[in-house]
Amino acid sequence: MKYKRILLKLSGESLMGKNSYGIDPNRLQQYAEEIKKVKEQGVEIAIVIGGGNIFRGVQAEKTGIDRVQGDYMGMLATLINAMALQSALEQNGMFTRLMSGIKVESVCEPFIRRRAIRHLEKGRIVIFGAGIGNPYFTTDSTASLRAIEIEAQVVLKGTRVDGVYTADPEKDPSATKYNTLSFQEAYEKNLNIMDMTAFTLCQENNLPIVVFDMNKSENLIKLAQGEDIGTLITTIQ
Ligand code: UDP
Repeated sequence: MKYKRILLKLSGESLMGKNSYGIDPNRLQQYAEEIKKVKEQGVEIAIVIGGGNIFRGVQAEKTGIDRVQGDYMGMLATLINAMALQSALEQNGMFTRLMSGIKVESVCEPFIRRRAIRHLEKGRIVIFGAGIGNPYFTTDSTASLRAIEIEAQVVLKGTRVDGVYTADPEKDPSATKYNTLSFQEAYEKNLNIMDMTAFTLCQENNLPIVVFDMNKSENLIKLAQGEDIGTLITTIQ
């Protein structure tokens, strides 16, 4: 295996599957199976999941809800997704712990770095819910920060496209895919990979990011084995 410890970032929207809202149980099952293949090879796995399929803080402002209130609603949305994912992973025979950025004592543990690392060492999959626990952040920033804190070797950002393109491949058919990119190049070309906070955290801490298509079967395990899947963003090229 190429990696010993990974942080997998899944967007909330990816959980919708073909639906326009909420959680698709087939998609959850599919993700659980893909994650299990990697777990069975002994890789330590932490997961950050978004909440965009349920609620985003920026949406709230349009409806008259205060931004900070909206962000907390978004964090709670990520927790709902995290609980669904936890359940799917457990149904597929994996051991898990859910750690939250905000205190929700009846449901999950608070995030404590040393404890998270201990869970990983014991072979449990750790899901980080409720983001960092602060408004004005995203789950991409959470993924970068937690990955650095737990000393993951890479952030694997699962999306519905198979990497970073010169332009949006869903809009521009002439767009071509990058196999590798440096952080600097991604800045200069204004490629929208993660929000700036998330991106800068990775760059400053020398943490590579791989953007890949999580919906393609076997992609995650192939990546863990060291195959060139998606786009790798690193400090040096
Ligand atoms: N959020 C937040 N702080 C965090 C993480 C998330 O305030 O540390 C809120 C924010 O409003 C965000 C929402 O939770 O819009 C859902 O997360 P995100 O948009 O990152 O989900 P994704 O796009 O990955 O589905």
